[in-house]
Amino acid sequence: MGIEGQRESVRLPERQIPVFREVDVLVCGGGPAGVGAALAAARNGASVLLIEQRGYLGGMATVANVPAFCPYTDHVKPVIRGIGLEILQDMKARMEYGFQEEWKDELDWVPIHAEVLKLLLDEKMQEAGVSLLYHTFIGDVVHHDGVVDAVIIHNKTGTQAVKAKIFIDATSDADLVYHAGGPLAQGGDEGEMQPGTMCFVLHNLDRNRFLAHVDEYGVDLKHAINKAKSEGQLNVVRDWAGISWLNDQTAGFNFGHIFGIDGSKAEDLTHGAIAGRALVDHITDWLRKNIAGFEHAFLSLTGEQVGIRETRRIVGDYVLTSDDFQSCRSFPDDIARNAYFIDLHMANAQSGMTMVHLPPGESHGIPYRSLLPVGIENVIVAGKSISTDRATQGATRVMPNCFAMGEAAGTAGALLCTNGLHRTRSIDIKQLQQQLVKQGAWLGEAINRAQ
Ligand SMILES: Cc1cc2nc3c(=O)[nH]c(=O)nc-3n(C[C@H](O)[C@H](O)[C@H](O)COP(=O)(O)OP(=O)(O)OC[C@H]3O[C@@H](n4cnc5c(N)ncnc54)[C@H](O)[C@@H]3O)c2cc1C
Repeated sequence: MGIEGQRESVRLPERQIPVFREVDVLVCGGGPAGVGAALAAARNGASVLLIEQRGYLGGMATVANVPAFCPYTDHVKPVIRGIGLEILQDMKARMEYGFQEEWKDELDWVPIHAEVLKLLLDEKMQEAGVSLLYHTFIGDVVHHDGVVDAVIIHNKTGTQAVKAKIFIDATSDADLVYHAGGPLAQGGDEGEMQPGTMCFVLHNLDRNRFLAHVDEYGVDLKHAINKAKSEGQLNVVRDWAGISWLNDQTAGFNFGHIFGIDGSKAEDLTHGAIAGRALVDHITDWLRKNIAGFEHAFLSLTGEQVGIRETRRIVGDYVLTSDDFQSCRSFPDDIARNAYFIDLHMANAQSGMTMVHLPPGESHGIPYRSLLPVGIENVIVAGKSISTDRATQGATRVMPNCFAMGEAAGTAGALLCTNGLHRTRSIDIKQLQQQLVKQGAWLGEAINRAQ
C-alpha cells in the first residue's frame, strides 16, 4: 500500500490477461451512438464487437427510461435519417394499433417503449452480424504514443482484453479517452453541470379523464404543479413534466431533477439513484392525490440508473461552438446535422433553463473533426461526449443526433479498415460522406446534392 496524493493506494501485481477477442471495430457502449456505430460498421463489412455494461442496448432510453425521442426534424423535413430513422419507424411498427395510428406520421417526440426497443435492437445486431458482449464493463485501456492497443474489460469471467483496429467510444462519458489520457472538458466554468432525472413509468392511468379535466377546467398540470410548489406540497424545481403516453393507461415521465451529481462518479450515481427513487415516490404520491385520471397510478418502473444529461466532453480537432449553432454553420467534413435546440437544464435549484431555438428548416453541421480526440490516433467518439462547448452539447446530446453521429463513426471505422488504414485522420472524407448519403443520411443541401 502507498499514499497517492491524499488517497491511499494499492499496487496491482503485474500479470498477463487473456485477449477475449480481436476485431476490426470495437464499439464501447450500446446507447443510440453505439447502436448506430455498430450497425453501420457491420453493414459496411467490418468485424464488430459491441460491449455494453447492461444486459441490453438503448442507453438512456432503456437504462434510464427517458420516455421520448427528441425531434428527428427541423420542423420542415427530417434531418436525422439513416439508421436512426429506421429504428424509430421499426419501433413504431411493433407498437399496438392505437399507438401506430396516433404516431404514424410523426417524427418528433415519439414516445419510447423500452421493451420493444430492447428486443428490436438485439434483433438488428444479430441480423447485421454484430457480436454482442453484455454485462461487461470497460475499465481501462492499454495505449502507447496516442494509439489504443486494447481495452480492459471486467465481467463474471474476470479481467480480459479486447483488441481492435478502430475503437469507437460511445460510452457517453468518453471513458476510453479518459483512460487513454486524452484532453477532456466537463461542465461550465464553475464546474456546474445539468441535473439528472430519475424517469419513471406509471400504469393504471386514465388518459381521457386527465385530458378532459385539463380541457374542461383549464387546470393544466403546470398550474397544478405551481400551486403545489407554492403551498409546499410538491418538492420540484421546474413546473414542467414530460409525459409520454404509450397507451391510454400507461405513460413515461421525465419529471423532477436531482442536483449536484457528477455522472462520471459511482458515488454520485449512487446518491442519484437513492435520491431519484425517493423523489419519484413523492411525485407519484402527489399525482395520485391531486391530478384527475392519476388517482390509481401504479408505479411500475424507475430507471435502472438516474438519467445523466452531462458529464465529460472530449477536446477534439474541432470544438463545435454555440456561434456555429446560431449561425447554422456547415463544415466541409460534416457527417451529421443538428436542428435540436440548446436545452441546458439549470445546474442548481436557483438557476434557470437556457433554451435557444433555431428557426424552422434550419440546422447546423457536425464535423468529423469534432469526433476525433486530440492526440489519439485510432479512437472515434460518438454521441453525447463529442467535442463541443457546453451550450452546444445541450443540443447535440439528444438521441436522434447520437444515432446519426454513431452511424458516421461506424461507417468511418469500416471504411478505414477496408482501406487498410488504421488512423482516424486518414479517412477520405468525401468517400465517407458519399457512403453516408447512400445510407440515407442528410448532410445538408450542398453535400447531399454533390453525391
Ligand atoms: C433525464 C434525461 C432526459 C432526456 N430527454 C431526452 C429526450 O426526451 N429525447 C432525447 O432524444 N434525448 C433525451 N435525453 C438525452 C439522451 O437520452 C442522451 O444524451 C443520449 O441517450 C446519449 O446517447 P449516447 O449513445 O451518447 O449515450 P447513452 O445513451 O448514455 O448510452 C451509453 C451506453 O454506454 C454504456 N456504457 C457507458 N460506459 C460504459 C463502460 N465503461 N463500459 C461498458 N458500457 C458502458 C451505458 O451503459 C449506456 O448503455 C435525455 C437525457 C436525460 C438524462
